Amino acid sequence: MEGGPLPVDAHIERTYQFGEKALGYLKYNETAAIPRNYELWYTYASGVNPQLIKAIQEALSKNSKLSVEDTDSIYEAFLSPHKITEKVEQVGSDISHEVKAILQLLETTASSTGQYGESLEVVAGELTDIKDPTQLKPILTSLIEATTQMAANSRELEVRLEESHDQIEKLNASLETIRMESMTDQLTNIPNRKLFDQTFKARTTEAESSGEPLCLLMLDIDHFKKFNDNYGHQTGDQVLRLVAHAMKSNVKGRDLAARYGGEEFAVILPQTTLDDALTVAEQIRLAIMNKELVKKSTGEKLGRITVSIGAALYSPGEPIDEFLNRADTCLYAAKHAGRNQVKSERDDISAPMADTA
Ligand code: GH3
Ligand code: MG
Ligand code: MG
Repeated sequence: MEGGPLPVDAHIERTYQFGEKALGYLKYNETAAIPRNYELWYTYASGVNPQLIKAIQEALSKNSKLSVEDTDSIYEAFLSPHKITEKVEQVGSDISHEVKAILQLLETTASSTGQYGESLEVVAGELTDIKDPTQLKPILTSLIEATTQMAANSRELEVRLEESHDQIEKLNASLETIRMESMTDQLTNIPNRKLFDQTFKARTTEAESSGEPLCLLMLDIDHFKKFNDNYGHQTGDQVLRLVAHAMKSNVKGRDLAARYGGEEFAVILPQTTLDDALTVAEQIRLAIMNKELVKKSTGEKLGRITVSIGAALYSPGEPIDEFLNRADTCLYAAKHAGRNQVKSERDDISAPMADTA
């Protein structure tokens, strides 16, 4: 801090400086100046978030520029309104608050139960040397008092426990929402890489023990870089949503279509033969290719986009990385064979390793 608060004008002046720096960073990294990217670099320039600065610098030490994926994940981790960790912490602290309140209540009730027991003992003792019925009256009165008090405490406990039960159910529901959010890709609204990884592991284990066929499709948009260069990143994002939608519409039941990263997608197809997986892949490819793209803001026609898909059948016992690599190799073969097609190991995929884009 530099000696005391800044005068208002100087404060505004500083925000301009941060803004200019942020624009400089955006240009240097060839990142679109959309509000969230601007927010990320403005925050960086202002120096107020050391964790964000560290994350950006780490990413920059690997590549000289911040990639789209890094920009997305750093924004998501440090600035996004969806910031998952903060929400989880909030729900966690709400739950612990609730549990403490219940424990406290149980303690109070336990000690009043103890008192009730003592009152009963006293009454029992007094009952032993009763000589005159009139002596019963005060004993009964104190007994009624103690019992009423006890009943009131139990009722309070009952009501409070019921409230707590409702509260905990609500918190549980929010946790479930957060869990779903953390597994959903914010741009395309389909499962993200995290859910893909979990599901992929679970389905291969299942296929291993059941012996049922399991297939994997890996999908990559063709010449997407050129599309972004021609029409801008935001229109590119629209295309990602379209691809996600086409995938989601062509799978069902236990199938899982996910955004694997950037402009790559994956589909897990449990209890599916390679023949059926190839049919699904072909349907997805056609659905995307047949869609005429129109820029929402201007109505400008943008032609069509195509995708290449690699399909593989799980071979029980193989490591899951190998299964994924085989699907990837098929995808690479589809690219190499001219893009806009589906390839599996049934095709000749022994193409030379150099790509001819
Ligand atoms: P190929 O047919 O060989 O796949 O060519 P390509 O240009 O699609 O392949 P490459 O992997 O070289 O480029 C992928 C591009 O995808 C780079 C980046 O501009 C774009 N991309 C990745 N993630 C996003 C995203 O979240 N939004 C947008 N708009 N573009 C993205
Ligand atoms: Mg790619
Ligand atoms: Mg691509």
